[in-house]
Amino acid sequence: MAAPTIEKAKAALNAAQHVIILSHERPDGDAVGSLLALTLSLERAGKKTTPVLFEGVPSRFLFLPGAGKVTSDIPSDGDLLILVDAADLQRTGFPVKTLPRQPDINIDHHPTNTDFAILNIVNHKASATTEILYDVIPQFGLEIDIEIATNLMTGLITDTIGFRTDSVTPKTLEIASELVGLGAPMAEIYSRTLNQRSFVSAQYWGKGLNRLERENGILWTSLTIEDRKAVGYTGSDDADLVNLLATIEGNQVVLIFIEQIGGKVKVSWRSRLGVDVAAIAFSFGGGGHEQAAGATIEGDMQEIQERVLTATRGSISPSPEE
Ligand code: 5GP
Ligand code: MN
Repeated sequence: MAAPTIEKAKAALNAAQHVIILSHERPDGDAVGSLLALTLSLERAGKKTTPVLFEGVPSRFLFLPGAGKVTSDIPSDGDLLILVDAADLQRTGFPVKTLPRQPDINIDHHPTNTDFAILNIVNHKASATTEILYDVIPQFGLEIDIEIATNLMTGLITDTIGFRTDSVTPKTLEIASELVGLGAPMAEIYSRTLNQRSFVSAQYWGKGLNRLERENGILWTSLTIEDRKAVGYTGSDDADLVNLLATIEGNQVVLIFIEQIGGKVKVSWRSRLGVDVAAIAFSFGGGGHEQAAGATIEGDMQEIQERVLTATRGSISPSPEE
């Protein structure tokens, strides 16, 4: 990352009275981990900081140090706005026009990042936004303690699905090693974020698994608001079902369609190496990484499924394993 950008961001942080940090809606471990790591490191330096998530912290991340500080309202007196792990201005979940100002700083690792802030600290090669923060927090003159390390490690573990993605580099593993050295409880994080499922999540998965369809190397299913009501699932995401589907053999692309309130559908894509689903997601107003991407699309479930499946078919060659 260009040193002048870091220096300017450091100066902006030093001058700020009240820092507001936002991340993306339906936050994953990298969103929450990045948000809390930066919040805690600024607070340790005596800076008033408010972490904000559109719908608060999902229950599986409530164990993270600092989770109790997160609000779902943007304070009106902030004088510095930072977005972490968000590729574009639409990602926070808040209507763009309700954001208090153009973001001052954007720290992210998505190739589809639109450089929407005044200062953009974006590295597409990082496996997680917390991988960038591991370097940037000390460059801002801030400390990494055990609680901050725990949040940084959570971003690494969740975005790489336990160091299993192609985005993992020697540097990722070196940082993980340093964070464990600082006391980050790797086994506990792994277990709480990747290995423990609520009974209700499993029942919710069941709804989606019952509707699995497969055709020419594409595997997909859907989850509805009614499914969530039926089992009592309180989130609005897929409870990570898409990553389970991605472990099923013989597919080039895996997709999930998750009905949202307000006539929208959240789509998640996962792909094999060589199929760039970020480009497809981008064409629907979303984004992400080559092998994992998403978009929220307005319209009816059936019509969106047809449009998205057509676009996805167009981007892959027929699978010989089907
Ligand atoms: P997921 O499908 O699990 O929500 O997300 C997969 C990847 O795509 C993540 O890196 C996530 O940040 C990104 N992503 C998901 N939905 C959107 C979206 O609506 N817009 C953008 N820009 N990225 C998204
Ligand atoms: Mn991320």
